[in-house]
Amino acid sequence: MTTLLDLFKTMEYGPAPESPSAVNAWLEEHGRKFGQFINNEWVTPKAAKYYSSYNPSTGELLAETAQAEKKDVDAAIAAARTAFGTWSETPGVVRARYMYAIARNIQKHHRLLAVLESMDNGKPIRESRDVDVPLLARHFYYYAGWAQLMETELRDYQPVGVIGQIIPWNFPLMMLAWKIAPAIAMGNTVVLKPASYTRLSALLFAEVVAEAGLPPGVVNIITGSGKAGEMIVTHPDVDKIAFTGSTEIGRTLRQLTAGSGKKLSLELGGKSPVVVFEDADLDAAVEGVVDAIWFNQGQVCCAGSRLIVQENVAPRFIQKLKTRMGHLRVGDSLDKSIDMGAIVDKSQWDTIEHWVKMGEKEGGKVFQPDIPLPAKGLFYKPTLITDLDPAASTVQEEIFGPVLVSLTFRTPEEAIALANNTRYGLGGSVWSDNINLALDAASKIKAGAMWVNCHNVFDAAGGFGGYRESGFGREGGREGLFEYIRPKWMERPRPDLVTGDGGRGTGDANAWGEHTPSRPARPEAGRGNGRVGLPPVDRTPKMYVGGKQVRPDGAYTLAVIGAKGKIVGQVGDGNRKDIRNAVEAAHAVIEARQGWAMRHGYNRSQILYFIAENLDARNAEFATRICEMTGCTKKSAQAEVDAAVERLFTYAAWADKYGGNIQETTLRGITVAVNEPVGVIGIACPDEYPLLGFVSLMAPAIARGNTVVMIPSQRFPLSATDFYQVLDTSDVPGGVVNIVTGDRDHLTKTLVQHEDVDAVWYFGSAEGSYWVEYESAANMKRTWVGYGLPRDWMDREQGEGHEFLHEATQVKNIWVPTGE
Ligand code: NDP
Repeated sequence: MTTLLDLFKTMEYGPAPESPSAVNAWLEEHGRKFGQFINNEWVTPKAAKYYSSYNPSTGELLAETAQAEKKDVDAAIAAARTAFGTWSETPGVVRARYMYAIARNIQKHHRLLAVLESMDNGKPIRESRDVDVPLLARHFYYYAGWAQLMETELRDYQPVGVIGQIIPWNFPLMMLAWKIAPAIAMGNTVVLKPASYTRLSALLFAEVVAEAGLPPGVVNIITGSGKAGEMIVTHPDVDKIAFTGSTEIGRTLRQLTAGSGKKLSLELGGKSPVVVFEDADLDAAVEGVVDAIWFNQGQVCCAGSRLIVQENVAPRFIQKLKTRMGHLRVGDSLDKSIDMGAIVDKSQWDTIEHWVKMGEKEGGKVFQPDIPLPAKGLFYKPTLITDLDPAASTVQEEIFGPVLVSLTFRTPEEAIALANNTRYGLGGSVWSDNINLALDAASKIKAGAMWVNCHNVFDAAGGFGGYRESGFGREGGREGLFEYIRPKWMERPRPDLVTGDGGRGTGDANAWGEHTPSRPARPEAGRGNGRVGLPPVDRTPKMYVGGKQVRPDGAYTLAVIGAKGKIVGQVGDGNRKDIRNAVEAAHAVIEARQGWAMRHGYNRSQILYFIAENLDARNAEFATRICEMTGCTKKSAQAEVDAAVERLFTYAAWADKYGGNIQETTLRGITVAVNEPVGVIGIACPDEYPLLGFVSLMAPAIARGNTVVMIPSQRFPLSATDFYQVLDTSDVPGGVVNIVTGDRDHLTKTLVQHEDVDAVWYFGSAEGSYWVEYESAANMKRTWVGYGLPRDWMDREQGEGHEFLHEATQVKNIWVPTGE
C-alpha cells in the first residue's frame, strides 16, 4: 500500500485527465462524418470522398472529413464572392458586432474547442486551454475593434475581396484566428482550408460562427488535400492568398500566383535562435528554453530551436537544462499535468527521428532524458544535440519537433553572427540582465519577432511575420491589416497576361530578359542636339556605382532616341556584372558600422532635403531634358520636375516619422513595433515620368534606410543619369543609390535572381511582373510590381505615401517584459 510518506518522497503526479465526453458527443451528433461548410451549411462533398482524422495520443479514429474536389472549391468561392457584395458594404460598426458575438461565442465554447484541439492535434490540454483558445477569442475581440474603427482610421482603404486562406496543423485554431479575424474585419470574405492532420477544430469553429449569426458565405471552410489548396490558390475569383506552412509550399504558391495580381502573404518556416549571454539569469533562461522549444512539442514555426550560449557559462547552462529535461512529463494530450503531448502524425515523427539520426551522423552528441513515454501513441522525448558544427544541416534546417541544437559563442558580435547565420528570420530571443546588450542584440538579429528574456509570447496586438525565407507579410497588430486592404483608388490588378497554360506560366524563363548588346543607331537617327555647324561634345554617362561613375562592364552603349526620332544621348548598356557590382556597393554601405540603415532619420531627412534643393536649382535643365526625350510640353516637364522636388520633400518628412510604435499587447512590459529597412532593394522604374517615376521610388526606399540599385526608365534614362550630379552634390554616401542603365528586363532578371537582394520593385510590363514574382521564389525575396498597369505618378494619392513606406520597411516586434 502506498503511504503518505511514499507520496512525499516521490512527489508523483496523479493522472488528471480532461474529459473527452463533450467532444465525443459533438462528433457523434455528426455521425463522425463531416461535409464542407459553405454558406453556413454542411454540404456533402461532390465526390463523397473522405479522410480519416486520428487522435495522435491514442491512435483512435475521431472522424471522417470530406476531401474537396474542384466543384466543392468552386462552390465555396462562389459563396464567398456573393457574400462579399453585401459584407464589404456592411458598415464597420455592424461587422464589429458580429465579430464581438463570435468572440463571445468562442469564450462560451472554450472548453469544447480546447479539448477537441488537443485530441485532434496531440498538444497538451494545458496549452490549448490556456494559450490557443484564449488567443482565438482575443483575435476576434481585437479585430472587432478594427472593424469598428475602419471607416475613420483607414478611410482611404477598401477590402481586397475573396481571400483564400491555407493553414498548417500546428496551431489549427490560432492560425485560423490570425487569418479570418483581420480579413472579415476589413470587409473581406474567406474560404479557409485547414491542414489535413487537423481539420476538426476548424469545423467546430464553423458552427461557433454560424451560431453567432454571421451572414452566410462570409466564412467558408473547405477540407481537402494540398491539391484542394492549389485549387483555391489558382482560382481566378480569389483576390488574395494568405498561407502559413512550409517554405517549400510557400515557394510553390509564390510561383502559382505570379503575375496574377493576387495579393500574397506567406508565413513560413524558421530556425529561431535563443541567445543566452553570460549575465543572464540562467535558471530563468532554462525555463525560457523549455517554452521556446518544447511548447507544442517543438512544432512551432518560431520555436527556439537553436540555442546559442556564451562559452564561459555553457557547461553550467547545459547541465541545468539536462536536469530540467529530466523533469518534463510527456503523455496523453488530455492529461492536465503533462508538459509535452504527442507528435501530430507518424510521418512527422519519422521526420524528427530522421533529423536526430542525422545530427548524430554529423558529429553531434544526442541527449534524451531518462523519462517514461506512454506505451502507445506518437510520443517523442525532448532532445538536445550538442557539439555540432554551425554549418551542420541539423543546425540549419527546420526540424519541427522537440529537438534543440546548441552552439557556443565568445563575443556579442559572434552571437549575432551565429544567430543570423540562417536563411530564415522568423523569431528569436535574447537572454541577458544587461538591458543595453539585450536590446542591441534584439535589434541586430534579423527576425520579425524578437523576445527579450522570454520566448513564444503572442498577442493579437503585436504583428508576427518573417524576414528572408520565413516569408513576408504580417499577421496581428495594425500592420496585419494591410494584408487585407488596398487603397481606394486601386482596383484589383488584372494584368493583361497572355498565358498559354491556364495562368501557370507565360513561357520560357530563359527567354525573359534576354538581351543582345547594342549596335550603332540607324543613320536616320543621327545626333539631334548639336548646334548648327558644330558637333556636340560627346558625353556618354557611365554607370553610377558606389558613388562613382564607372564604365559599363561590357563597354556597350545604348542610343537614346528622343521624341523627334533623333539620338538625344547615349547611356551604358548594363549587364549582369554591372548589377552585381552595384549590389555589392549597396551592401557595403548598408552593412558598414555606421551604415545607411544605422543613421538616424534626421540625418537621412537632411540628405533628402539637400537632394531636393540641388534638383530644384537645376530644374530648367531637367525640364528641358524631359521635353527632349519624351516630347511633352515644357509646362508638363516643368510640372514633373516640381513634383519630383515635392516628392523628395515628402520623404524627407517621412524619414523621421515612420519608425514604428508601441503595441498595446497583453504583455506586462513593452512591445515595440520597429519599421526596419528591408535591405538592398532593386528598383526597375517605369517609362512614364522618367524623372518623377525614378524619384518616387528611390526616395521612400532611401528615406527608410534601404540602399538601392536603380534601373532607370529604359526609353528615357537621361533624367536618371543627369541625377548623378545631384546625388554627388547632396552628401549622399557612395553606394546608397546605384544606377545601372540598360535593358530593363535583362537587368531586373539579374536583380531578382541575386541571393543578396532583399526586395525587387518592378514597374515594367505585365510579363516582366510575372517573371519577377515567379523568380523571386528562389530566395523568397519581397516583390512589388506594377503588372504593366497605369499609375498616375503625378497624383499624390497614387505616387506617394503609405503604400510606398510599407513596401520600404519590414516590421519587427520586440517584446520586453518589465518588472522583477
Ligand atoms: P505544408 O506546407 O505542407 O502544409 C501547410 C498547408 O498547406 C496545409 O493546409 C496543406 O494541406 C497545404 N498544402 C500542401 N500542399 C499544398 C499546395 N500544393 N497548394 C496549396 N496548399 C497546399 O506543411 P505541413 O503542414 O505538411 O508541414 C511540413 C513542414 O512545414 C513542417 O515540417 C514544418 O517545417 C513546416 N511548417 C511550418 C509551419 C509554420 O507555421 N511556419 C507550420 C506547419 C508546418 P494538407 O495538410 O492537406 O497537405
